[in-house]
Amino acid sequence: MGMSLKGKIVFITGASAGIGAATALAFAAERARLLLAARRVTKLGEVASLAMESGAAGVHSIQLDVRHRHAVQSAIDELPEEWAQIDVLVNNAGLSRGLEKLYTGKVEDWEEMIDTNVKGLLYVTRAVVPGMVVRGRGHVINLGSTAGEMTYPNGAVYCASKAAAHAINDGLREDLLGTPVRVTSINPGMVETDFSLVRFHGDSTRAAKVYQGLTPLTPEDVADAIVWAASRPAHVNIARVTMTTVHQANSLLFHRE
Ligand code: NAP
Repeated sequence: MGMSLKGKIVFITGASAGIGAATALAFAAERARLLLAARRVTKLGEVASLAMESGAAGVHSIQLDVRHRHAVQSAIDELPEEWAQIDVLVNNAGLSRGLEKLYTGKVEDWEEMIDTNVKGLLYVTRAVVPGMVVRGRGHVINLGSTAGEMTYPNGAVYCASKAAAHAINDGLREDLLGTPVRVTSINPGMVETDFSLVRFHGDSTRAAKVYQGLTPLTPEDVADAIVWAASRPAHVNIARVTMTTVHQANSLLFHRE
């Protein structure tokens, strides 16, 4: 039995799809209050409705592109008073673009990954964590990846962005030492979401091949680990969780039937 999440304010970036959406529903089942952010408001609205049906104590959605520093700061500064005291921040918004050799890769793809996965994560963290320190409670849960633990061919920049997330996760925990604010990295291997569709710029045939012949993790598997980390007793800090399907050993090694 962990700590109750009932009524806690959970801010999830990238809540319109995949792991973020599943995480919203998992916290909803714990009767949390959800602050959901992403760029696609229609999809966000659908997740918000499902979250209310799943038991959320309330949902507030914001359209937000985490790459825009000032928009991130204003979104946090302008939260309605009853939504301002964020208890859990899930830094989930992120993406990969392209799978090709570094020396022929597209610079636009690199910039989008670095701007979202590294700078976006920093902007949101910078806007939310000071309030947690003042309130004397809070938990930051970052989406890392096995890609950040071991670089795979043709993925150097995505892997670098997740290695950066790893360093930021550990650095933030060091800098918050002496406060009750907790910092966790959840590092999944392959999870079946829109991730590959986004990586291949909408090429669904290529995206489907990624998951062929194996059973990937589901977004719900990852959401489960996030909720578990968030619900540990207040003095327990889960530093990192690395999780893969049984068909994956690390970011390089897969077993396909
Ligand atoms: P997904 O299904 O494509 O979802 C990505 C989410 O991020 C969407 O809700 C998207 O929403 C949001 N997002 C992207 N860019 C954004 C921006 N600039 N501002 C705000 N929101 C943004 O992919 P996913 O697999 O759930 O990925 C979620 C996280 O898990 C990412 O950090 C990813 O790197 C990590 N991860 C995934 C896997 C995997 O195999 N799938 C493995 C390890 C780690 P909008 O497009 O509506 O903005």
